[in-house]
Order: sequence, then structure tokens, then C-alpha cells
Amino acid sequence: MGGKDLADGPLQGSGRGRGSGGKPAEKERMFRFLREASFLKTERVEKALRRVDRGFFVPAGERGFAYYDTAIPIGHGQTISAPAVVAFMLEALDVREGMCVLEVGTGSGYDCALLSVLVGASGKVVSVERVPELAALARENIASAGVSLDNIEIIVGDGSEGYAPDAPYDRIIVTAALPSLDLNHPLVAQLKKDGKLVAPVGEYVQDLVLFGKGKMQKILPVMFVPLVGKYGFGER
Ligand code: SAM
Repeated sequence: MGGKDLADGPLQGSGRGRGSGGKPAEKERMFRFLREASFLKTERVEKALRRVDRGFFVPAGERGFAYYDTAIPIGHGQTISAPAVVAFMLEALDVREGMCVLEVGTGSGYDCALLSVLVGASGKVVSVERVPELAALARENIASAGVSLDNIEIIVGDGSEGYAPDAPYDRIIVTAALPSLDLNHPLVAQLKKDGKLVAPVGEYVQDLVLFGKGKMQKILPVMFVPLVGKYGFGER
């Protein structure tokens, strides 16, 4: 989605070392695209995206593509989302310093690291991942990117049920597709009264749904991998 500007012209994998998120010109081209297409709206989110190098969160052979607007496989049939979707979700969530945020679907750890930067040392990020190997990879990636793990708790488990011990949350972000979302969903129950939740909802092609102040709004058509679990889809 939305990556026309970035897809134009030949893709040039730089193949450089760990953490090299592509050439500086590619990085700037991506930020220009994100701003011009209004996926990126605020300085806060842009600063976080600049602080956390996406190159640390993609497999070695894909590092040259870190600053292209594309999802990238990270193993175990999972992906790191495209930068436009990441920026759009973070803008919609309006994460502030000191907040307690639940992420469902840690994956590579990229969103988790961005959230950690946005909530700062006085905040907390709880991230639930069902694949133990990905939870371990995420911890490694976050440390390699030079982001402190002090305000991050990564839990292996079924995040479709949320994570009750740290509830209620100021913000909840779900990064795999939910089959449905309504006011009775356990994730909604774990949100503070004035909290916000963003999640892809549907099968195959989804709507990104923003929930807040009792209202559900469809804000973007998206494609995510399915959330597998009690309140998710069955194993495929
Ligand atoms: N946020 C991730 C990142 O920054 O790389 C991308 C997440 S990837 C699109 C979706 C993740 O959700 C996968 O790692 C997958 O294993 C995880 N997942 C799927 N069902 C889950 C569940 N019930 N609980 C926790 N994680 C789940």
C-alpha cells in the first residue's frame, strides 16, 4: 500500500553491515514520502522513527530494503510491517510520555522499540508474542538498536486475551489481524476509560480500526498476518 514513490526505480540492496538501514538518501526519500502521503504527521513520531533504525529489525539479507515502504519476512511465517503502516498506527494511537502501552504481536521488536522511545523512561511497554523464538529475537534486536529494555516487558503467550497483570492500559496496539472487535472484547476491557486501541480487523484484507471514547472508526484498509489464539483465528 501507498509505496508508489518508493517502488519507482530499481531496488538497490546495499548489503551493508548489521543495522545499516540503507543509504541516507533512501532513508530521506522514505521520510519525505511518509510526510507527503500524510502517514507521518507529527514531529514526535518522526523523531522516534529516526531514533530507531529499522535496519536492526530485518534479516541480514534484507537490510538494504529497510527504508523501502514494504513489509519484510522475519521468519516463522511472520513479517515486520511496512513503515507507512507503522507510522500511521503510531500517529493514530497518539502515544505520550509516561503512558503504559500494550502491544499484541512483538514480531521483530520494531514497534516495541518505537513505543519504548515514545513513552520514555517514565512509561512502560508490555508486548506479547506467541512465538518464543520471535520474542527472543525481538529482545536481541532492540538491544542491538541501542534502545533500552528497562521500560519494556516482552511476554510469551496468547495476546488475543490481552495481558491482565498490567491492565488497564493507556494505549493498545494489535499488530496481527483480529477476526472481530466489539465492546465486549477482552482487549477493550483492558483499556483505560479514555484510552485508545488500534487493530487490524477482518480476514485476508482488513480495516485498521481505531477505538476510543466508545467509538470504533475504520481508518485504513490494510493487510496483516492473522492473530492466532483464543480470540483470534485458528492455526492455518
Ligand atoms: N509488531 C511487529 C514488528 O514490529 O515487527 C510485527 C508483528 S507481525 C505483523 C505479527 C506478530 O503477531 C507475529 O510475530 C506473530 O507471531 C504475532 N502473533 C500472532 N498471534 C498472536 C497472539 N495470539 N499473541 C501474540 N502474538 C501473536
